Amino acid sequence: MPELPEVEALAGYLRQRAVGRRVDRLEIAAISALKTYDPAPSAVAGRAVVDARRHGKFLDVLIEGDLHLVVHLARAGWLHYREAFPSTTPLRPGKGPIAVRVRLDDGSGFDLTEAGTQKKLAAYLVTDPAAVPGVAKLGPDALAADLPTFTERLRSRRGQIKGVLTDQSVLSGVGNAYSDEILHAAKLSPFAITDRLTDAQLAALHAATRQVLGDAVERSVGQRAAELKGEKRAGLKVHARNGLPCPVCGDTVREVSFADSSLQYCPTCQTGGKPLADRRLSRLVR
Ligand SMILES: [Zn+2]
Repeated sequence: MPELPEVEALAGYLRQRAVGRRVDRLEIAAISALKTYDPAPSAVAGRAVVDARRHGKFLDVLIEGDLHLVVHLARAGWLHYREAFPSTTPLRPGKGPIAVRVRLDDGSGFDLTEAGTQKKLAAYLVTDPAAVPGVAKLGPDALAADLPTFTERLRSRRGQIKGVLTDQSVLSGVGNAYSDEILHAAKLSPFAITDRLTDAQLAALHAATRQVLGDAVERSVGQRAAELKGEKRAGLKVHARNGLPCPVCGDTVREVSFADSSLQYCPTCQTGGKPLADRRLSRLVR
């Protein structure tokens, strides 16, 4: 799932490439992806793209006349910039991976695509981004939050740190992949309980959050659009590296699986050398 660094890179790419161009047409191929009906998609035709921004993991394409095309890419969504489209024929609703196409006046544009059968990509055409329910409830940006804000937000919610850090209403932008990386960098167990963290642990977590996200933004922004791939992240130390050596200490990275997700961590770096119980496995055994 694209998280803060990837969405930031996509917004940066659109600022370079699309801002100043006029929209020829906004085409909706996956009817269920468009969550709003007023203004209609035709409202953007002939208007210029004026900016591209990020709200947490949401991408916001600003279009002349106070219009915002706000997109949540969900788990398997992505944005593909095209220098040209093979045909000028409008997309027809169908079962393909393209959900939304934006054609610009120089013949270029971008497709919002979603792989797989679970269609969760969501696009909203609104006059105020706060009208998008997911945007309205976002907590402060994880990369921008200062230490007092960060501490206050994490202490406001009692729970396992992995869950709290990825709760978009606590802090926005961090998902499954970067939370694994942040907790590894901060040397914290993913199951540590937030209100038991010391000031020093919270300060380390704050520093790790900025470091991990900042580095990832730098790496993502440095890539060319063609190489920007949500699922192919470089520089990860534990996430999606189950069974591989931890680059910090050499211990084997381990995994805990849940019904539809999993987390990875390093026992030596994060849990005093003790492997965490894999709840799914223990349930099977019992
Ligand atoms: Zn380690």
